Amino acid sequence: MVIVRVALDVPIDRLFDYLAPDADTTDIGRCVYVPFGNRQISGIIISVCETSSIPEEKLKHAGQIDRQTPPLPQSLLELFEFCSRYYHHPIGQVIMNGLPILLRKFKHITIRKAEQPPSWRLTDTGRSIILADLPVRAKAKRQLISLLLKHGIITADTCKTMSSHSRKLLHEFKELGWVEQFTALSEKSVFSTASAPVPTAEQAQAIFEILDRTGTFTPWLLNGITGSGKTEVYLQVTASLLAQQKQVLILVPEINLTPQLEAVFRKRFPATILVSLHSGLNNSERLQSWLQAQRGEAGIVLGTRLAIFTPMPELGLIIVDEEQDHSFKQQDGLRYSARDLAIYRARQANIPVILGSATPSLESYHQARIGRYKLLQLHSRAISQATLPAIRCIDLRVIPVQEGLSESILDALRHCLARKQQSLVFINRRGYSPVLLCKSCRWIATCNRCSSRLVVHLRDRQLRCHYCGNQQPVSPACPQCGDPDVLPFGHGTQRIEAALVRHFPEARILRVDRDSIRHKGAWQKMLDRIHRGEADILVGTQLLAKGHDFPNLALVCVLNADASLYSTDFRAEEHLFAQLIQVAGRAGRANVPGSVLIQTEFPQHPLYQALIRQDFATYAQVHLKERRSAGFPPFVYLAILRAEAPVLADALEFLRQTAALATVMENYTHIQLFDPVPAHMTRLKGLERAQLLIQARSRRYLQTFLRNWHQGITTLPAHNKIRWHLDVDPLTL
Ligand code: ADP
Ligand code: ZN
Ligand code: ZN
Repeated sequence: MVIVRVALDVPIDRLFDYLAPDADTTDIGRCVYVPFGNRQISGIIISVCETSSIPEEKLKHAGQIDRQTPPLPQSLLELFEFCSRYYHHPIGQVIMNGLPILLRKFKHITIRKAEQPPSWRLTDTGRSIILADLPVRAKAKRQLISLLLKHGIITADTCKTMSSHSRKLLHEFKELGWVEQFTALSEKSVFSTASAPVPTAEQAQAIFEILDRTGTFTPWLLNGITGSGKTEVYLQVTASLLAQQKQVLILVPEINLTPQLEAVFRKRFPATILVSLHSGLNNSERLQSWLQAQRGEAGIVLGTRLAIFTPMPELGLIIVDEEQDHSFKQQDGLRYSARDLAIYRARQANIPVILGSATPSLESYHQARIGRYKLLQLHSRAISQATLPAIRCIDLRVIPVQEGLSESILDALRHCLARKQQSLVFINRRGYSPVLLCKSCRWIATCNRCSSRLVVHLRDRQLRCHYCGNQQPVSPACPQCGDPDVLPFGHGTQRIEAALVRHFPEARILRVDRDSIRHKGAWQKMLDRIHRGEADILVGTQLLAKGHDFPNLALVCVLNADASLYSTDFRAEEHLFAQLIQVAGRAGRANVPGSVLIQTEFPQHPLYQALIRQDFATYAQVHLKERRSAGFPPFVYLAILRAEAPVLADALEFLRQTAALATVMENYTHIQLFDPVPAHMTRLKGLERAQLLIQARSRRYLQTFLRNWHQGITTLPAHNKIRWHLDVDPLTL
């Protein structure tokens, strides 16, 4: 009896057995159609065996096995299995989440053979040609030779754009032995070193150290200030690995925001196949890119978090750029962190992984401090004339604001307009949950059972702790100084643009946020407008903060950052620091000196003080100390069980049942379970949401507990009636 065990895209965490007389172990990792209920669905064969726990007469026959497409490699199946175990998500759904859709509908695939047309390059004879020796009339010949001398190669793409005469000349040159043809990856040194700058001393050191350990699992934390040239380090390390016939995987937070990075890599490695994997691809493009990676043809794979699941047989290096970015964690379905999986994959393949950032996550920074990751630092900007922007706080306690804008900011904007320079008004909207704050003495309502801030729920005038569930009425006056003026903190931002229009009717004001770039191509159009200098004042959210290079941008104004300072989310401050460093890094990148103005009621706050000095290290150390004493990650490990139901009481009751289940489990001793609480945004899309926080001192304890507990929960009668999920290493509480 031959049985295939198949992973199916169903919410049940196990494999399904089918009879498949013609199958053998070479079919592991292949797609197969099988009957399920009264449907035929596709799945992936995980193993082939001879026995099943299901009696033979009950086993159904598998359908056709797709032997046209190469099977998923064992290493990828292992990654999926790890992911399923670690995030407690059904294996079939983990796999289907990671695969291109068309790979599961194999009947419709026509596999395009890679026809990477060869590129041209000079031979040694060709390189010795002296232009002056060629006849003056041979203009086309001279042009072609000088092009080759300048770039070293002519790629197939460039070749296509040339005249047929030039193409004929290339073949003539080949006859003469001046040029030769070659295909990417099948040949060495296919990058054009001509365009690479000489690395700075710090860059050179980083490149040297990384390349010194390419054949071993080494996690690097590349901590370099904005403009320090981290990208150049990625490029030079990549060049070396490509020359060793290795593949490089680059993960970026949001590919829409980083078309430049793709362009930079394409330009540096014109003859290498680079595939980019992101949500903008259609199904067939995604499939073809995936297959090129799987066949080892693509030297570089650049993509968003999902790209972590790309099979790459010759993987030699993983780069995670802006590693602190929350977009690396998926927030629904399979709640995985691509950054964390990158570490797993690097260990699995025994290769280096570079986590790059100006402001690393405290988790990664902590790992570097205790020596689990190796720290590389770039302290100065790569271009010597480019100076870091001057950052200044505007004290809102003494300077009045109108419609959210202080006179100082209006003055600075006016100045910029007069000098025909661009400015950016940055509005921060993340991490805002209202806390109760006394404006006179800075008292903040905190929980007396946890080191957390209480959240204002105005609907029922209650203050609530989102960690332990502690609840109390909103105080009528400050318990510390008696001031009756205690208020929920934070203010609206919708009218800023309108106010700016009123103040500067002559200025061209461009608003950039999720709404304004919803249409395809809108984002690129806006970027073009900014680059052409067709906007004087940009008003934007975090979209504008990341990675852009606007050479004429001289001023950045930050309006309402304080809200994150007093957010209930323990990560909000870290996030704010990263964001402000990033947005400040937009100003003064080229010849224009930059300045940054921050409106705040708390100019003495350690965050702003560290920001003014652009001192990540001190800031991180202070914060890590706080996290340690408060018992937050990275010193503890968290998971959240979330439940939602039409009635809040049902969701809470379900969580109470799961908690009761936990307390009788044997490995419960190392676990701390908090009380079930309503979620901050209790009502969402017609459902009431509640959550239960789980905490442990070690990852291992947490995982062992979660495994048993998760299984236990699926036996509760209520588990089918309630929508629930487990979030391991959650980013928001
Ligand atoms: P980061 O990613 O660290 O913010 P970038 O990689 O964008 O910095 O580099 C900032 C600027 O410095 C870019 O314009 C880049 O071309 C330039 N640059 C980087 N390294 C060098 C170098 N070694 N010599 C000259 N210019 C460099
Ligand atoms: Zn007070
Ligand atoms: Zn509490």
